[in-house]
Amino acid sequence: MDETIVKTFENNLRQLEAEITRQMRKQDRTAIHIERTAEETEQLAMASEREVAVRTLDHNAYMLREIHGALTRIEEGSYGVCLECEMQISERRMSAVPWARHCLACQDRLDHAVPGAMHALRRAA
Ligand SMILES: [Zn+2]
Repeated sequence: MDETIVKTFENNLRQLEAEITRQMRKQDRTAIHIERTAEETEQLAMASEREVAVRTLDHNAYMLREIHGALTRIEEGSYGVCLECEMQISERRMSAVPWARHCLACQDRLDHAVPGAMHALRRAA
């Protein structure tokens, strides 16, 4: 992949990282801590609010892991290369999913693979 394009992806990933980190800090201060209230309805509302907050936090934590992985691959020079078949991942796919580790074909196979099948496939190759 072209160096200037990788740089663009890196900038985007870092911006996304900063944005998610900022969101997580904000959320940390507001929604997560448990508050006690006498009103049952209010308690219920807060419980579901908290559930949403926890789910968002989970998702953000996952995103951060993916982004960090992508940034590491940029550092190592393996960014945009499929971990399975070692072919270049299309720029279109990298634009849509800048932390993609696999090309579309391999991702598709992985998504539909039965556990253990990928291993067998790799050994046969
Ligand atoms: Zn592949």
